[in-house]
Amino acid sequence: MIQAVIFDLWGTLVDWPVDPSRALNERLRLATPHEPAEFERLFRDTYRRRETGPLVDAYRLLGVREDVLEELLDQRRENTRAALVPQDGAVETLVELRRRGYRLGMISVCTEEVPELWPETPLHGLFDAEVFSATCGHMKPDAEIYLLATRKLAVEPAACLYVGDGANDELAGAERVGMTSVLVHRDGEEPVWPELRDWAGPRVTSIPQVLDLIPNGTLTDGR
Ligand SMILES: [Mg+2]
Repeated sequence: MIQAVIFDLWGTLVDWPVDPSRALNERLRLATPHEPAEFERLFRDTYRRRETGPLVDAYRLLGVREDVLEELLDQRRENTRAALVPQDGAVETLVELRRRGYRLGMISVCTEEVPELWPETPLHGLFDAEVFSATCGHMKPDAEIYLLATRKLAVEPAACLYVGDGANDELAGAERVGMTSVLVHRDGEEPVWPELRDWAGPRVTSIPQVLDLIPNGTLTDGR
């Protein structure tokens, strides 16, 4: 019996701002002494750091010049503010799931400005538990981050449906702790992450379709 539905944020409830992020990364690089290849390597190596701690520390590790640090952090915040716009039907789906008695969670691998800006977003107040990597210090697909959400929701992992686009190996991570994972991808397109092209579990191409997956508290596809 499914008692709770836990959603990913980026690429699931909201779109990841691809172009603004690329533009900001290029500005970041130009504020460092590094060539593109070296910057890319450092950027990859500081991923966990960016998503679990103060962004300013990660930017310093990248070699970003002190005199532009503040400006680039502000730009990041503005990019995120503009991007935290729910997908069509997402708010209505969350409200309806709650009306049907499900507990609702959100787990995001995100940088610090996401929890900072959260109270300004239309998603604020719709969840019983929100877990942000930047403030809890854990990342997907580590078990801790899922278990933190289930403790806050006061439900067993086996009673949770986990819905995400699959970044950070999140769907397998959720299943390893006992949840049932649902892949989200755009209608008419392959999943964003190549390793999920053959995903055999349930999938949806819009957030409202989650309602059809669990009409009576059990999954309709027989799993
Ligand atoms: Mg995602």
